[in-house]
Amino acid sequence: MKIFLIYGGKSAEHDISILTAYSIMKEVYYKYYEVVPVYITKEGAWLKGLTLDAPPTHLEALHLTAGEEAALAIKEGAVSTGVPITIAEIKEKDAVIFPVLHGPNGEDGTIQGLFEILDMPYVGAGVLASACGMDKIISKHLFTQAGLPQVPFIPIIKTDWLRDEEKVLAKCDEILDYPMFIKPANLGSSVGISKAMNQEELIAAIETALKYDRRVLVEQGVEAREVEVAVLGNDDVHTSVPGEIVKATNEFYDYQSKYLDNKVTMQIPALLPEEVQTQLREYAATAFKAIDGSGLTRCDFFVTDDHEIFINEVNTMPGFTEFSMYPLLWENTGLNYSDLVEELIQLAIKRFEEKQ
Ligand code: ADP
Ligand code: MG
Ligand code: MG
Repeated sequence: MKIFLIYGGKSAEHDISILTAYSIMKEVYYKYYEVVPVYITKEGAWLKGLTLDAPPTHLEALHLTAGEEAALAIKEGAVSTGVPITIAEIKEKDAVIFPVLHGPNGEDGTIQGLFEILDMPYVGAGVLASACGMDKIISKHLFTQAGLPQVPFIPIIKTDWLRDEEKVLAKCDEILDYPMFIKPANLGSSVGISKAMNQEELIAAIETALKYDRRVLVEQGVEAREVEVAVLGNDDVHTSVPGEIVKATNEFYDYQSKYLDNKVTMQIPALLPEEVQTQLREYAATAFKAIDGSGLTRCDFFVTDDHEIFINEVNTMPGFTEFSMYPLLWENTGLNYSDLVEELIQLAIKRFEEKQ
C-alpha cells in the first residue's frame, strides 16, 4: 500500500512538521508500505519529497532540539527533490494520505477538505474536528456545552474592537482578573499569544493578536501545571496516561520553549493522584467527542495545586516526532511508536470504509 506523507507547510510549525515526517518515514520505511513523501514549502509549493534510500541516521544520532534537527535536515537538502508534484498525482486507489502538517491550512480542516474531495482515506481528524479543534473560540463553546470545566473567557471580533474599544475593555474588567491571556482564535505554537498584567498590556496584546486573526480570545490566566492526555480512536475512544510539561520557569510555554530551548521536560505519567488522572482521561475523551474527533488528538489541561482541572485546548495534529509528548504518552500507556503509526493508518482506512 502507498502512503502519501505530506509535510512542511506554510505555518509557523513548518520545521517541526519536517521532523515528524522523518520520524514516521524511518518507521514505515522497513514495513510493507511504499512511502511517497510530499513536501510543501514555506511558500506553499508542493514538491516531491526525498524517498529515503537509507534512513536518516544522522537524526537518530543527534539528540538535538527540534529546531536544530530541522535546520540540519534542511541544510543537507534532505527535505525535497525540488520536483513539483500535482494533486492529480496523489489521487490514487488503495493509497492513504498521512498529513503531518500543523497550524493553519494543515490542521484546520482546509487540507482535510481536499482529501475528502479526492475521496481518499487520510490519517487524523476530519474536516469538522480539525476546524473546531483549531478554533479556540468555537472549541471553547463546544466544551461548555459538553460540561467541561474551563477558565472564563471573552471572544472578541475585530470589528467590535475597532468600533468600541472601551466597551470591550469594560467587559474584560467585569468578567476577568489579571493576568489575562490573549490569543488569536486560529493559531498554534503560542504564536501571537501574550500575557497581560494590566489594561495597558491588555490593549497591546489584543492589538497583537488581531494582527494574526480577526477573532481573538481573552482568557482568565491561571497559575497551574500543564498536563496533557493523548486520545486515539474513531468512535471508539482510547486515552493515554496524562503527562506533565514541566517548565523550568513559571513563564508560559511559548514557541521558544516549545521547540527551540530545552527548558521543558516531560513527566510521564504526571505525578497526580489516581482519581485526578482518571478525571483528566474522562475529560479528554469528552473533549474528543465534543469536536467529533477521529484518529488522534492531544488534550491539554491546566491543573491547579489543589487539583482543580480546566481544559485549555485540543490539538488535532500534535507534535509527533519520536520525542514528542503525544507518542511518548502512548509509549507509557503500552503502545510503541511503530504500533501507534500503524494504528493511525488503520483508523484512517476504517473511517474511510465506514463512510462508503
Ligand atoms: P497554543 O495553541 O499556541 O499552544 P495555548 O492556548 O496552549 O496555545 O497557549 C500557549 C501557552 O500559554 C500554554 O501552554 C500556557 O503555557 C500559556 N497559557 C495559555 N492560556 C493560559 C491561561 N489561561 N492561564 C495560564 N497560562 C496560559
Ligand atoms: Mg494549540
Ligand atoms: Mg497549547
